[in-house]
Amino acid sequence: MRSLRNEIEQRGMRIFELVERHLEPLFSKAGFYQRMMALSMRDEEFKAQLFRFVDVLPSLPRSRDIVKHLEEYFAATRESRKSSDLIHNGVRVARIVPWVSGRLLRWNVSGMARQFIAGRNPGDVIKMLRKRRAQKIGFTVDLLGEAVVSEGEADEYAGRCLVLLERLADETEDWTDSRDKNSELFPVVNLSVKISALYSQMNPADPADAITHLAPRLRPILRRARELGAFVNFDMESYATKNTTLELFRRIFTEDEFKDWPHAGIAIQAYLRDSEADLRNLIDWGRGRGTRFAVRLVKGAYWDYETIKSHQNGWSCPVFSHKPESDANFEVLTRLLLENEPIVTAAFGSHNVRSIAHAQALADELGVDRSRFEFQLLYGMAGPIKRALVEMGYRVREYCPVGELLPGMSYLVRRLLENTSNEGFLRAKFAENVSEAELLRDPFEFLRQSRNGELPHSNNVTTHAMKDRLPSHRGSLDASQGDTFENAALTTFAHEENQERMRAALREMRTLLGKEYPLVIGGEKIFTGKTIASINPSSPGEVVGAVSEAGIPEAERAVKVARDAFKEWRWTPFEERARLLERAAGVMERRRFELSALEVFEVGKPWTEADADIREAIDFCNFYAHQMRLIGRPHLTQQMPGEESYYHYWPRGVAFVVAPWNFPLAILCGMTSAALVTGNTVIMKPAEQSAVCGAMLMEIFEEAGVPPGVLNYLPGKGSVMGAHLVDHKDVDLIAFTGSREVGLKIWERAGITRPGQRELKHVVCEMGGKNPVIIDSDADLDEAIVDCTYSAFGYQGQKCSALSRLILLEENYGRVIERLLKAAASLRIGNPEEPGITVGPVIDETAYKRILNYIEIGKSEATLAYQREDVPSKGYFIPPTIFVDVKPGMRIAREEIFGPVVSVIKVRDLEEAIAVANGTDYALTAGFFSRSPANIERAKAQIEAGNLYINRSCTGAIVGRHPFGGFKMSGGGTKAGGADYLLHFLLPRVVTENVTRHGFAPEETPRYRDEFLWPKPKH
Ligand SMILES: Cc1cc2nc3c(=O)[nH]c(=O)nc-3n(C[C@H](O)[C@H](O)[C@H](O)COP(=O)(O)OP(=O)(O)OC[C@H]3O[C@@H](n4cnc5c(N)ncnc54)[C@H](O)[C@@H]3O)c2cc1C
Repeated sequence: MRSLRNEIEQRGMRIFELVERHLEPLFSKAGFYQRMMALSMRDEEFKAQLFRFVDVLPSLPRSRDIVKHLEEYFAATRESRKSSDLIHNGVRVARIVPWVSGRLLRWNVSGMARQFIAGRNPGDVIKMLRKRRAQKIGFTVDLLGEAVVSEGEADEYAGRCLVLLERLADETEDWTDSRDKNSELFPVVNLSVKISALYSQMNPADPADAITHLAPRLRPILRRARELGAFVNFDMESYATKNTTLELFRRIFTEDEFKDWPHAGIAIQAYLRDSEADLRNLIDWGRGRGTRFAVRLVKGAYWDYETIKSHQNGWSCPVFSHKPESDANFEVLTRLLLENEPIVTAAFGSHNVRSIAHAQALADELGVDRSRFEFQLLYGMAGPIKRALVEMGYRVREYCPVGELLPGMSYLVRRLLENTSNEGFLRAKFAENVSEAELLRDPFEFLRQSRNGELPHSNNVTTHAMKDRLPSHRGSLDASQGDTFENAALTTFAHEENQERMRAALREMRTLLGKEYPLVIGGEKIFTGKTIASINPSSPGEVVGAVSEAGIPEAERAVKVARDAFKEWRWTPFEERARLLERAAGVMERRRFELSALEVFEVGKPWTEADADIREAIDFCNFYAHQMRLIGRPHLTQQMPGEESYYHYWPRGVAFVVAPWNFPLAILCGMTSAALVTGNTVIMKPAEQSAVCGAMLMEIFEEAGVPPGVLNYLPGKGSVMGAHLVDHKDVDLIAFTGSREVGLKIWERAGITRPGQRELKHVVCEMGGKNPVIIDSDADLDEAIVDCTYSAFGYQGQKCSALSRLILLEENYGRVIERLLKAAASLRIGNPEEPGITVGPVIDETAYKRILNYIEIGKSEATLAYQREDVPSKGYFIPPTIFVDVKPGMRIAREEIFGPVVSVIKVRDLEEAIAVANGTDYALTAGFFSRSPANIERAKAQIEAGNLYINRSCTGAIVGRHPFGGFKMSGGGTKAGGADYLLHFLLPRVVTENVTRHGFAPEETPRYRDEFLWPKPKH
């Protein structure tokens, strides 16, 4: 008996032999497409530009727009490139005859799409399916349009699925299975469904909500499929939706109505580290259910996306990092499927001859008849392999996407990426003529050779295609500023254990509500007898905590204590101070879920927003510790024989930190930790609405070992105790984040020098914004709408970075507004104790009334286009509100509302859009959505904002990556989380010594001198 290995090789060689008979190039459509792909494989930069151009083209209505984009994307490609002649000539011709060129380009790109998209509508696709039938190739049809931004769009997608099903069933009524054996397992009509297209608010933290919304949209499709004798497969998409998709599959097919229906399938992605466990669970579930089901085994189509996403968020990467690992795992899962054939029908979705040959050989070894499983391949790819498999007597089914190019763009780009990937089988075989022996190599052998036989389980991806793009030079001199620092990870609520931990933390926190918290002055806990009640904005009857209120006497005492503590603290080595911050970060990491739960109750933050706030606080501590080490040592200003000058910093003195409630831990912690690490002592005043979070931060620093008096916790009334401290002669520095009104007052008052004052008071002042986002006429609306609704309504618009002025060009005004209003209507509003809520309550009654008042002003000034009606009646819930016909001079376009209210301003063109964007008193954040490189450059150069975000939401700055802060009336130009932030808490100093004695001087002067910072002066 031949070994499995021999058998795989034989099968593989046989497939190759048959492939040679029908050989065609990798890209079966000749001409333009083939040429573009060949260039793409040679030239990465060209490939990126080409894919971007292809991506934008369907949304360009006019020929001249197409030519303009062509020019912008390609005119600047380097002359030395092989691609450049073709492109430069193309661009030149296009300029001369734009009308012809535009049409020609559209035609060519549509041709490119037709390579992978089987038809624009069911009618088109049927013609193609008939041809395939003649070749004994079956079909599964997929409706393009996975990005739905609203519930209306999800309904529409579900409706189209039903229409497609009917049509397919109708047209194929008399078709029979391509193989006569076991045909009952393989209905002719087979529909592939993208689950994310059926619910616009899918949130990984809340699978139960997703299933509640997905199931009712799916049931009619499944019911009808069953009646028509069709098969339905759930496609698998990004990792974030994986667990929900699996759970939905198990739930819905355990329902009485579908429990005994065998024609349901789901895709499993072998590139996922979880996939073996998932498949085992699924098989166990199937056994319990007692009815056969199907699994389409694929490697996975989102490798680049998952790698980028996990790296950005500091998550362990869910996909394998080495291609042979995915190949090897595919074979492991192939075995699992075939060994469980009595309960699960396998479909092997691969174009890789090794993977296919392995499945064939193993099936034979296990005695699974070839008519009991099938191979599935994508439309437009690997035609010769499909034909070879048919000739060998296997079942072959083609995955046929149907739909318009615009909604199909992400599918098309995935295919283009796959076809040109350095790692891909198809490129290796059909474009690079890699030897057959190499192509058939056992992936385990490859791994054994490279890793001594073990499948690596490392979570950090730093290999292959991503390698060049990921920071790999931490600590090196040429690293970008942010690269020398590693951010804390966000919690991924896609993991069930994290959902559970959050729920447990919320339950636990509920038992602590109402507790009293003391002031802390000089390490002493003081109950003043007068308290500030912190209220749950979702349920105003509920007191989150009662915090002792400081008055003038406590403020005086705190200043005295802080002044005394400064004498010691200022001389504490910065390394010790940095370690204090790092210990505090460690405590926050340990108490992460508890702190998030507190924020949910105290300030109404949704889960992910609360977690991001804690993460930011942790980042601030670690980042400022890191920065202090970089700047702390006295460093030589210039090498000069006979003289040495050392530049270094002294702390300023006593810092008064005044923080807002909207990032209750992060901002308070950021300003406090910056002050502490630089050697200042601190009086910390949290906002009254988030005083319990402040008390927690005090606890955290105490646990981390802050000496008594170095940090003092002093909640109280800003107008009384706060104002007193701002004016105080012994306060040297004020770090403030909050409203413009209070900020400007502090700025002015701090300028008055009081009798006995030692220092000029320094003010770090960060205030609000009236942040604009411009959506250009060629923007990707699937992304722009989602990002804009989130930027405007996420955390109820209560971020200083939130979008409040949406600037739209006449040209796409109608299209954007229609989708925007529907998207706003679909947002999840409610008590943020529930996972997956986007819009919760505003902070308190004052804010509630102020925002409602602005809505009234809006109604009198402009046109109310949309106001949500179904907000909870208990709690301070404001309906997301959108005004149109807003003019730049109106109050709702000029004044900061700090709530879920958006003013839409219509403009003629980009020039006017930028003028409107810049036409306010503020310059904090701004956003620009566009796919025109020239317009993007222009926006980058001209939009006045401290943080300008292109093609992404305008909120969510990350420490070190997006140093945050604005100018004009948004702030004094400081950048929290930036390299130069600490300088605001320091006084620079230079010590110069003449080291020449009688004409003799040391030859070398050390770059740093630490000694004179450490000895403590005798008091
Ligand atoms: C009929 C059909 C249906 C499909 N349905 C889905 C679906 O529902 N969901 C889905 O996600 N995909 C789906 N795919 C796409 C599939 O996942 C693959 O992207 C595609 O088929 C390429 O895999 P391959 O075996 O043909 O080629 P190969 O060239 O052997 O493998 C390429 C694949 O390897 C993986 N890979 C690439 N680089 C690395 C690396 N450095 N480390 C680890 N792994 C790497 C990626 O998954 C990549 O797509 C489907 C494919 C087919 C044929």
